[in-house]
Amino acid sequence: MIPVFRFAPSPNGLLHLGHAYSALLNAELAEKAGGTLLLRIEDIDAGRTRPEFVAAIHEDLDWLGIRFDGEVRRQSEHFPDYERAAARLRARGLLFRCACTRAELAAAADPSGPHDPDGSPLYPGTCRHVPPDPARPFAERIAMDAATVAAGMPLHWTAFDREGREAERLADPSRWGDAVLLRKDVPTSYHLSVVVDDASQGVTHVVRGKDLEATTDLHRLLQALLGLPSPRYLHHDLILDDAGEKLAKSRMSKPLRLWREDGASPDDVRRMLGFAPQSRMPRR
Ligand code: GLU
Repeated sequence: MIPVFRFAPSPNGLLHLGHAYSALLNAELAEKAGGTLLLRIEDIDAGRTRPEFVAAIHEDLDWLGIRFDGEVRRQSEHFPDYERAAARLRARGLLFRCACTRAELAAAADPSGPHDPDGSPLYPGTCRHVPPDPARPFAERIAMDAATVAAGMPLHWTAFDREGREAERLADPSRWGDAVLLRKDVPTSYHLSVVVDDASQGVTHVVRGKDLEATTDLHRLLQALLGLPSPRYLHHDLILDDAGEKLAKSRMSKPLRLWREDGASPDDVRRMLGFAPQSRMPRR
């Protein structure tokens, strides 16, 4: 089976060095594995997506010399796929409606109680057993206790490193509590879409930043509930520059396009991020 990698940026801003690192690492590992590399535009958030950011993603990645295989998938064109997956969870009683506002959640939160890995207090359960007024806009949350029973714990996911070594990790989705799977403003969420898309695109290797590592526990649970294969995961560290120092935040968040305008070449960017110059990278 040919390994399938993907780079999946959200078009709500310009790509910076952190994105470049992730994209270059995906490209390097796909190349080494003799695999393919797909591009997915994660644009479920219509309020934050801008067409000029989508255009900039293509331009910047092209400038960096990264070539993608196959068609570009845009999440905004796949809402029916996410709804089908949600319907399956709903039919098993694993989703519930929640009309709580941010202010209501903040008021109900116990600051000394458990928090999710992103630092938000776990959902206090307000709407879990009491359906909200149907006139109020609602999100749909996963009923975590029922979901872990339905999936059958323990669940594991496979981590891999740059040398190809693999290790099994225990998934602990409960640390997310009753997470939102369909938002109030958008009929899906990052978690639901990413799991459905990785499966639809046949992704076998997910390479993304450490900031998303904890979400993999929830993604693994959704894969089990939906009967989807689980890719292997590499969550890379924050990027280092060529001297092995952590890149300063200001350097890191400067858009790629500004580096280019300031005269940096694609190879300068590659070198800064610890990758071989393009001329020495095999052509995809
Ligand atoms: N779209 C996400 C981001 O730009 C990445 C999602 C993923 O790689 O799973 O942060």
